[in-house]
Amino acid sequence: MANRLRKQTPKRRTDVPTRTDYRKYREELRADFDCHCGYCGDRDWPRKEHFEIDHFVPKEQLKIIRENDYSNLVYACRSCNNAKRAKWPTNDERQPNNGKCGWIDPCDNLYDEQFERTETGAITPKTEIGDWMYENLKLWKKQHEVLWNYEQLEIITEEIKPKIQDCDDIEISRKLNALLIEQQEWLKKLYDE
Ligand SMILES: [Zn+2]
Repeated sequence: MANRLRKQTPKRRTDVPTRTDYRKYREELRADFDCHCGYCGDRDWPRKEHFEIDHFVPKEQLKIIRENDYSNLVYACRSCNNAKRAKWPTNDERQPNNGKCGWIDPCDNLYDEQFERTETGAITPKTEIGDWMYENLKLWKKQHEVLWNYEQLEIITEEIKPKIQDCDDIEISRKLNALLIEQQEWLKKLYDE
């Protein structure tokens, strides 16, 4: 069965106080995007420092929208932000796409309809625009599949954790605890380079 690209469509709060520097919205944005990249759905742990604030309509295109408009900001991983850059094929800030190429706001429910995940968690496009975004965000990168699977493993881990404490076999319980710690440490090392 195909999986959704993201657990749920993120929603930006509308009551955030105006700040002149868009970088000051980081914490609200991170919370609104549930600590995941708006575009690929990668979770930010353990790479929080690799997450950036993307301008959905790129700064170069802004005429009416201001650089610090919260409604134009996306919590994005470095991979997606770097791939997206200033690409805006319509050249019109009011028109994210022309039905064939361009973007859909990650906070729009339509965004999730452009993609799905295979059984192994790899992202695949479902529509023409999905295909365009898939290429332009490099969503084919293996890291998206790996991180998604890792997150699924962590869900199972959380289910197992309380049972480890209840386990009567001290040796098994010790080994399981060590395994869980090691698992997290190796993932961290992977991104510490
Ligand atoms: Zn991303």
